[in-house]
Amino acid sequence: FIHFEAISKVFGTVTVVDSLDFHVAQGEFVSLLGPSGSGKTTLLMMLAGFETPTGGSIHVDGRRVEHLPPHKREMGVVFQNYALFPHMTIAENVGFPLKMRGVARAEREARVKRALELVRLGHLADRKPSQLSGGQQQRIALSRALVYEPKVVLMDEPLSALDKQLREHMQLEIRALHRELGLTVIFVTHDQGEALTMSDRVAVLNRGKIEQFDTPSGLYDRPRTRFVAEFIGETN
Ligand code: ATP
Repeated sequence: FIHFEAISKVFGTVTVVDSLDFHVAQGEFVSLLGPSGSGKTTLLMMLAGFETPTGGSIHVDGRRVEHLPPHKREMGVVFQNYALFPHMTIAENVGFPLKMRGVARAEREARVKRALELVRLGHLADRKPSQLSGGQQQRIALSRALVYEPKVVLMDEPLSALDKQLREHMQLEIRALHRELGLTVIFVTHDQGEALTMSDRVAVLNRGKIEQFDTPSGLYDRPRTRFVAEFIGETN
């Protein structure tokens, strides 16, 4: 469903993503896991369309996308610091991607209502972001990513600013939405525990290369490299 072929990204003289091949099936929940600087965010940015690869191709749902602008790729995105617009209400924030795509007001309102119900925050539609807690704001960002019913949702460390309890709660909510909506999810994290509990498969990245792409139990039971064994072993 998502195919990366020989994808590279070079900044100046530094190769940040190094000729990666990577395939994700429709409906899979896949995490990109690795230490800081391993290239996780850059990989996700190329999929989202905010970075152009230096080489290689990306296909999503049968379409070649690596040179399409983000809004033509039909993917929902949730980034850690992809903030809500402070001057807009929650409903306006969630409806913004639809407005950008020229969706008429009546349909926009119906879709915003549905998207807010998905995260069970319909009652906050008329508030401003500053009147919401951090966890609520993150759920609104998720709702905004889902508002145009994308098949693919990309998330970059969406929970890392939340405290442990809320984080675990949100992990369950995201998993439930993934199942209910049949989404294909690519989830970036540097947290081993989070990747292993949430994902169908995990790609372990190190210096722009995939060390192993496997199920959580495969990574635990049969780490293929010393790096994977040590990195997964740090789980606590
Ligand atoms: P983190 O968990 O810290 O976000 P990451 O695995 O997501 O790390 P990337 O953000 O993809 O890693 O960055 C990989 C490397 O690419 C880093 O060394 C970073 O400094 C470098 N890099 C990223 N963006 C740029 C840029 N626009 N120009 C130059 N170098 C960049």
